[in-house]
Amino acid sequence: MSVSSLEITVGSLIPRLLLGPGPSPVSPRVLQATARPTLGHLDPQFLALLDDVNERLRGVFGTRNQLTFPISGTGSAGMEAALVNVLEPGDTAIIGVQGFFGERMTKMATRMGAKVVAVEVEWGKAVEVDRLIEAHKKHPAARLLGVVHAETSTGACRSLEDLGAYLRDHDTLFVVDAVTSLGGMPVEVDQIGIDICYSGTQKCIGALPGLAPITFSPRASKRAHTRKIPSTSWYLDVSLIENYIGAERRYHHTAPINLFYALHEALRELDEEGLQARYERHARVGTRVKEELYSRGFIPFTDPSCRLAQLTAVELPGRRDEAPLRAQLLELHGIEVGGGLGPVKGKIWRVGLMGHGAHDESIDRLLAGVDQLLGS
Ligand SMILES: *Cc1c(COP(=O)(O)O)cnc(C)c1O
Repeated sequence: MSVSSLEITVGSLIPRLLLGPGPSPVSPRVLQATARPTLGHLDPQFLALLDDVNERLRGVFGTRNQLTFPISGTGSAGMEAALVNVLEPGDTAIIGVQGFFGERMTKMATRMGAKVVAVEVEWGKAVEVDRLIEAHKKHPAARLLGVVHAETSTGACRSLEDLGAYLRDHDTLFVVDAVTSLGGMPVEVDQIGIDICYSGTQKCIGALPGLAPITFSPRASKRAHTRKIPSTSWYLDVSLIENYIGAERRYHHTAPINLFYALHEALRELDEEGLQARYERHARVGTRVKEELYSRGFIPFTDPSCRLAQLTAVELPGRRDEAPLRAQLLELHGIEVGGGLGPVKGKIWRVGLMGHGAHDESIDRLLAGVDQLLGS
């Protein structure tokens, strides 16, 4: 396809409504913020914005951790940073696997030379706390125990309080993937006792893809400094990055300036709304979309004990093939929902109501499209 024909195609698209597993819709205010003139990464104006972003992130994470900032990269870069800073070859990593993103954690830790103990559960359920504790009792010297809070591939939520309470008395670091939970439901890093928590900006935070907020507890940060051999990743090494984040302001890599503008504006929007109101909004629309879809014959995929609000996984009425209807929804109605990954490819829809997309109008548009396509 030539450049000009690509331009014509893109220009003629009907506007998209992003109701998949991410990215989520970006508000006009956040989009406009990205268009501000680019500053240098050592400009005092930019550094003030960076500090403000980090302080607001502490609020959303529920932490006073000094080492709290956005990694340059998407959620997966946050995952990689969480693991690569504390794992050394030969370390044991216990990982709860309840879907695609838990599996990704095991793959990364394996590449880092860790001995991975995967505690798996059938897709659609949350890994049981007893089985994770049992794995830890077998491997008490494990460097870390990692779980995915909101498993976007299945719509399952793993509670954190139970594991936090257990791990409080152990040296094993508690690592949490909050890519799809942060900004959409409480995470409470300090209260729960999470050591490393990372997220992404394009899900419930409502900014653009490209940054991965992360926070390290003092003991996780200490571990990053006292490891025997340096982290195999230079780019994600927090013992280097912190010299830029902190008072020294030493250049490490160029911060993606305009993405920071977007994140800053999204966090301002979030603060104006208030965390509680935002969580309630996500919970309310998550309940409504489930009721509406189930009443139209969509079949719940996720176990009722652990359903997320912001991500609803359903099989289609009559368990029909999901892909043709999903393609029509996009083509004819401009609405994007997600299909299934891995073992549930072709079987489920993943409907995300996240950030700026978590509103009744999104549900109304989705239902109008679905009703027309299903002929009801
Ligand atoms: C989206 C997601 C990721 C990966 O984020 P990217 O921004 O696609 O790199 C990791 N974990 C979970 C739970 C996610 O939903």
